[in-house]
Amino acid sequence: CGIIGYVGPATNPDEVLMSGLSSLEYRGYDSAGIAVANGNLRIKKREGELNALEDAVEQYSFSGNVGIGHTRWSTHGPPSDYNSHPHTDEDETVAVVHNGIIENYQALRDELTAEGIEFTSDTDSEVVPHLVAKYLDEGDDPESAFLRAVDRLEGSYALACVVADEDAIFAARNDSPLVLGIGDDGYYLASDVPAFLEYTRDVVYLDDGEFVTLRPDDYTVTTADGATVDKQVKTVNWSA
Ligand code: GLU
Repeated sequence: CGIIGYVGPATNPDEVLMSGLSSLEYRGYDSAGIAVANGNLRIKKREGELNALEDAVEQYSFSGNVGIGHTRWSTHGPPSDYNSHPHTDEDETVAVVHNGIIENYQALRDELTAEGIEFTSDTDSEVVPHLVAKYLDEGDDPESAFLRAVDRLEGSYALACVVADEDAIFAARNDSPLVLGIGDDGYYLASDVPAFLEYTRDVVYLDDGEFVTLRPDDYTVTTADGATVDKQVKTVNWSA
């Protein structure tokens, strides 16, 4: 239902992520979670209201420069801690948040299960981190692994993906909104502008079929074949 992402110099990305999630509460949700990449992945997710997640996050030390967060409105699998996003691969190298519905998830899940992969949730979304991990194992770099995984998907998605030892967020959209925030101190990614409006008003709206890679010092928007798209930065002049 809601996505937030942050890449930049902040050393407490959990604060940016939690404040982004609370700005997205108006969209409705039944669970929430965050992941921060810093050599390894730190993930907390909880069914229920954001304060359940806040209590869990407070007892835990998050540091790093890259993170993603999600509020979930269940479509596949009941609300629960294990169905909450972010979802990961078996080794917890890849974490993914997803808005929308992957229509062909059952076929992909059957294929991955036949390869010996064990799923830990009922969601359609969980196929994505397993696909990215599979392509990483085959030797792809993270950006190509993500492009290749998304190429397998049918349905609607806004996706954000982090990999344990990469200072980057990989994201894509099709029939589900996704917008970038260009800040003085980092880049933001969200399903809606209010999630990062307290940090920046400079935004780039992604279109269907576009991919973005956010790194601490730059961002690139491409199509599925890797061709760079020149995007316009717009300034929003309304307040949340
Ligand atoms: N289909 C996914 C799920 O059930 C994502 C739902 C959403 O957009 O929050 O977990």
